[in-house]
Amino acid sequence: MHVIKLKKHKIYSLNIYTIWDEKRHVKNKTTGEVKRRDVRYAASLDESNHLLISKLGAVYVNFHRPLEGKVKQVTIKRQGHRWFAIFSVERHVNETVEFPVQSTGIDVGIQKFAVLSDGTTIENPKFLLKVERKLKRAQKKLSRMKKGSNNWKKQRQKVQQLHIKVANQRRDFLHKLSYRLSKTYKFVFVEDLMIRNMVKNRHLAKSIHDAGWGAFGNMLDYKCNNNGGKLVRIKPHYTSQDCSGCKARVRKSLSVRTHVCKSCGTILDRDHNAAINIEAAGLGLFDLSPTA
Ligand SMILES: [Zn+2]
Repeated sequence: MHVIKLKKHKIYSLNIYTIWDEKRHVKNKTTGEVKRRDVRYAASLDESNHLLISKLGAVYVNFHRPLEGKVKQVTIKRQGHRWFAIFSVERHVNETVEFPVQSTGIDVGIQKFAVLSDGTTIENPKFLLKVERKLKRAQKKLSRMKKGSNNWKKQRQKVQQLHIKVANQRRDFLHKLSYRLSKTYKFVFVEDLMIRNMVKNRHLAKSIHDAGWGAFGNMLDYKCNNNGGKLVRIKPHYTSQDCSGCKARVRKSLSVRTHVCKSCGTILDRDHNAAINIEAAGLGLFDLSPTA
C-alpha cells in the first residue's frame, strides 16, 4: 500500500465505517496498567479505490475482487512487509437457491486432496507443492548459516515470506474449492475426522493431512450454510472397507489403493469407493435417494 498525504477532507462523505488498526500499547491513567488494544479510526472509500483514514490519509487499495454488499468494518493487517485491508461486508443469505446436484460424498486422500462420490479427483495443487519444496530448501539453507549474521537475517526474512506465501496459496485454494462445492451440492457429506482419528487411524501422515482438512471442513461448513446448503459430518464406519456395490466387507490396509470386491465384481479406486459409502451413509440420515 502506498500512503499519500491528504490535505482536503471533503471526500470523506462517501461511506464512513470504522477501521481497526494494529494493536497499540495503551496506558490506563488510573491504574497505570499497560494493555495492547485495538485502535479504531473512521474511514471511507472513494471511487478511485483510495481508502481514506482519519489521521492517516489516503491509501491506495489494490482490490483482488470487487466489493459486494455493505461495508461494515475494515481491518488493516500486515503480513511480512505487505499490508492488507480486509473488508467485512454485510450481505443477505440467499434462501431459495437451485443446486445443480443434490448431494456428494467426499473422501479425504493422502496423495490426492480428495475424491468425490462421482469419481471426481481433486489433486493437491502443483503450485502449492512447488512453493512448499522451495520453503523446505530455504529452511535448510537457513539452518546451515551462522545464527545472527547478516546473511542469516536475510535468509530468515526469505523463509518468513515463503511461509506466508504457502499459507496464502493454501488458503486461497481451499476457499475456491469450498466455494465451488457449496454452489454445486445441496448436501455435502464428509467423514467426521475427529472420531476417525480417535478410533482407528494411527497413520501419522494421514493424521497430519486430516489436520489440514479441518480448516477446509470449517470453510465448507459456513459456505454451504450461507448458500442454503448443508455440510453433514457422518460417523466413519468402515467407509473405506465396505463395498459400495454390495456392502460386503473387503478388508484392506492403507497401502491398498484399489477396492476389489469378489462378491459383486466392483473394482474402484479406494477413495472413490469410500466417497460413495460416505454419500450413501449421509443420504441414509436424511432418507434421501442417491443422485445418480
Ligand atoms: Zn461388492
